Parts: sequence; C-alpha cells; structure tokens
Amino acid sequence: MGGQEMRSAARSEIAARLGRRLGPEHCVSDAEGRSVYESDALTAYRQLPWLVALPGTIDELRYVVAECAAAGIPLVPRGAGTGLSGGALPVQDAVLLSLARFNRILEIDVDNRIARVEPGVTNLAISDAVAPAGLYYAPDPSSQVACTIGGNVAENSGGVHCLKYGLTLHNVLGLKVVTADGELLELGGRTLDSPGYDLLALMHGSEGMLGIVVEVTVKLLPSPPQRRVVVAAFDEVGAAAAAVSAIIASGVVPAGLEMMDRLAIEAAEAYTKAGYPTDCEAMLLCELDGIEADVAEQTAAVVAVLRAHAARAVRSSRDEAERLALWRGRKAAFPALGRIAPDYYCMDGTIPRRHLGRVLESIAALSRQFGLPVANVFHAGDGNLHPLVLYDANAPGELERAEQLGGRILELCVEVGGTVTGEHGVGVEKLDQMCVQFSSQELEMFHAVKAAFDPRGLLNPGKAVPTLHRCAEFGRMHVHGGHLPHAELERY
Ligand SMILES: Cc1cc2nc3c(=O)[nH]c(=O)nc-3n(C[C@H](O)[C@H](O)[C@H](O)COP(=O)(O)OP(=O)(O)OC[C@H]3O[C@@H](n4cnc5c(N)ncnc54)[C@H](O)[C@@H]3O)c2cc1C
Repeated sequence: MGGQEMRSAARSEIAARLGRRLGPEHCVSDAEGRSVYESDALTAYRQLPWLVALPGTIDELRYVVAECAAAGIPLVPRGAGTGLSGGALPVQDAVLLSLARFNRILEIDVDNRIARVEPGVTNLAISDAVAPAGLYYAPDPSSQVACTIGGNVAENSGGVHCLKYGLTLHNVLGLKVVTADGELLELGGRTLDSPGYDLLALMHGSEGMLGIVVEVTVKLLPSPPQRRVVVAAFDEVGAAAAAVSAIIASGVVPAGLEMMDRLAIEAAEAYTKAGYPTDCEAMLLCELDGIEADVAEQTAAVVAVLRAHAARAVRSSRDEAERLALWRGRKAAFPALGRIAPDYYCMDGTIPRRHLGRVLESIAALSRQFGLPVANVFHAGDGNLHPLVLYDANAPGELERAEQLGGRILELCVEVGGTVTGEHGVGVEKLDQMCVQFSSQELEMFHAVKAAFDPRGLLNPGKAVPTLHRCAEFGRMHVHGGHLPHAELERY
C-alpha cells in the first residue's frame, strides 16, 4: 500500500470511529450533506469539508478533538455560519466541527443576573429566555435571530447597542473551552475579575483558533423601563456624520447611534416599510434608554444637536411598536440590499468618529472609480463602518473588483488611524489587510500566542493571522509607527 492509500485508509477508519461514537446521523460524510457547510455568509468563498462532526456533549466533542489531534487532522469550529469574513469556511481535508447541538440554556440566575448557556444557543434566545424576569443580554448583532453565542465570543461580536453596553467581551464572565488536544479549560467564572493572565479576554475574537468554546456565562441587564428612537434625515452625508460626533460630544451616551445612506434607506424601506424618510441622502437612528425622566431629557438634547446640524424630519418613536419597526428596517438592511443586487460584499472597518464624513466621501469616490455601487449602513456611534459593495458574481471580473474595492476601503480605515475589523473578524477575508495594520513583530507575537494554545496549528488553520511570507508577497507590510501618509487620502 502506498503512502496516499495508507492515509486514506487511516482517515476512513477515523470517520468510522467518529460515526460509531456520535451516531451516523451526526457524522456527515456524503457530499450533499457536507455541501450545507461549504461556506459561511461570505458566500464568495466555498470549500467542501472532508467530514462534518456534530457532537452533542462535551465528552463527545473532546473525543472528536482527541481523534483529530492524534491523526493531525485540522478542525474548523462552526456556530450558525452567519460570519461575514469566512471564519467558518471549511479547510480542505479538515473536520468541520458544528456546535449546533449545543443549544441548551443551562442556568438562569436571576438574583445574580447571570445565564450559563451552551455555545450553540442563539443570541436572541438568551434575551427571550430571560425576558419574563425583566432581563436581557445586551450585545445584539443584527443577525441575532440566527447567530450563536459561541460564534459571538469567537468574533467578539457587537451590534446596535454596543455603543453603551460594550461588545461580547464586556458581557461575558466565564467560558469553558476545549483545547486543541482535547483538554477542558475554565476561564473566568461568575465574578468580574480573576487572577492570572486574562485568557478570557484573549479567547474573545480568537476566531476558533485557540480553543473551542463549549459553555458561556453571560451577564444579564435589567430591561430599561423606557426606550425611544429619534430619527433624523439629512440632505448631505457629511452633515449626518458631523451630527454623530456632536451627539457624543454633548455628553449623551445613546444606547445606539446608527447611520444609513440613501441606497440602504431605500432598500430597507422597500423591504420592511419601517417608516423611513426616503427623500434624503442620509438618516440617523439614535436610541435613548433609561428611566422616563432621563430619556425625555436626553431626547431633547439629541434633537437640539440634530437640528443644529441641518437635520430635517426629526421625530421620535411614540410607542414600542414604532420603535421596533424603526429597528426592524435597520436590522433587515443587509438582506434588503440583497434584493437589489445579486451579491454583496460587506466590509467592516472602524475609524475614529471625527473622520466619518471624510472617509464616507472617499468610499463614494472609490465606488465611482471601481464602477460598483456601495451602500452604507453602520454603527456610526462606534465609528464602525459597514460599506456593502454590490456586485454580480456571474459578471466576469466583478468579484475581483469588489474584493479590490473592499481592500482599499479597509486600508483607508488604517490610514486614518482605524482598524480593519470592528466586529466581523478577519477570517480569510481580511488577511492581506492585517499586513497593512500590523508590523512583523506584532504578527510574530500573534503566531506565538497561537503556538502556545495550539502548537501543531490544527484549530482553524489559515484564518485571522497572515503568515509573514504572505505579507511579503502582498508587499504591504506595515512599518511600525508609520501609517501611510495622509497625501494618500488626497488621491480620492
Ligand atoms: C445579516 C447579517 C448581519 C450581521 N450583523 C452583525 C452585527 O450587527 N454585529 C456583528 O458583530 N456581527 C454581525 N454579523 C456577523 C455574524 O453574525 C457574527 O460574526 C456572529 O457572531 C457569527 O456567529 P455564528 O454562530 O454564525 O458563527 P460562525 O459564522 O459559525 O463562526 C464564526 C467564527 O467563530 C468560530 N466559532 C463558532 N463557534 C465557535 C465555538 N463554539 N468555539 C470556537 N469558535 C467558534 C468559527 O470557527 C468562525 O471563525 C452579521 C451577519 C449577517 C449575515
């Protein structure tokens, strides 16, 4: 028997063992079954996994990890596959490890405002489960109806309300994690701090490369007694951007502060009938929450700032139904844009708020230069941009143009002192731009951290951190302390 045949016989034996341990229905090897997992929400990239394993208990999961570790087979963890950067994209010859069956809420501790949940529980299911106790889980990605809390940890996800309440990292107290060699670690717990290096923080945003999250302890917050959304229309994107900075500078801390441009407003309104003004270039949605007197005072302050920045059609939600309708439009904006273009490529850069107007102008110029429409719908208060490049994957060369345009937008974010990701992670999508963001020393440090957790590089290989070789080939290695000169920006 040749080497190739021996390897394939050994793999068949492993697949058979996993099938016996998990049950054949939870160990998917046929092409049709595997094709369900061939991409995440970044559908431009696809790859069939070698095998899909769906363990249902921590012991079963550890068995899968140990089998793979012994045979040197890579593993790609997957929650709901709503990631937008290809983090859960299968790797050739790897096992796709689905956490879908880890879907139980294990404990709700109302007195201590804590919930302990399995990683496959959806974000929204946590808030739904604790709502009868007057509580909720604050981070709310727009995908919250589908995305899992394990995926949220792995991406350090954000959402509309993270401006006031923080990212996933700020709302998780403890994790149970299975390491690359199948050991079970407990990080953090039920208190605010724990001794030693902050491995709990390190695990957030680690994109399935340092360990597999098998349990999450989240903080719960009391639902605010009053919530109101103020809507404002602008004739110029720059005026809306200036109003964002002015609201924050006024001292008000909105629960959410979102911006949508004309293309995004029109698509969302046509899809959801949210009640948006459609005769404008940009719109802000600003949510205030708290006790009634505070909300009234903050609403008045925000309305005054908006009017001072040439906003028109300023109004605030009169009741809960109207508030929810206004958010429904925002939260459905991505699928709404999916109705007007065959494909979209969603970028996720973050910039200092004061550059919002200028960067949005530059994005519009890049859109003209590359000949592809770009819609903007984003967490303006956080400076977290989501330009959606609209394209048609079947039109020759359009995907490549969309990728180049997206790459330029991310580099623009770095040029103004921002980052190449705000909440969607790096995955496979932003590997080249990581070379622009980080120096070789910083990337080496990331590789050293990875090696400390996963010396053989079996967990989600090839994601999130580029090799120095790749950066050298890309030819854009960031020189420490030297962002590209601002003259670069003037080209747009
Ligand atoms: C329409 C739409 C709107 C979105 N809006 C937002 C938004 O507002 N804010 C935001 O932050 N994101 C948003 N996203 C992106 C996405 O929903 C989040 O990144 C989410 O956290 C992914 O969760 P998931 O369960 O789908 O994870 P997946 O896509 O399955 O996986 C994401 C990454 O996490 C890893 N992973 C998954 N589960 C585990 C685990 N248990 N242990 C270790 N690693 C794991 C995977 O390997 C991968 O690297 C949006 C996506 C869509 C499609």
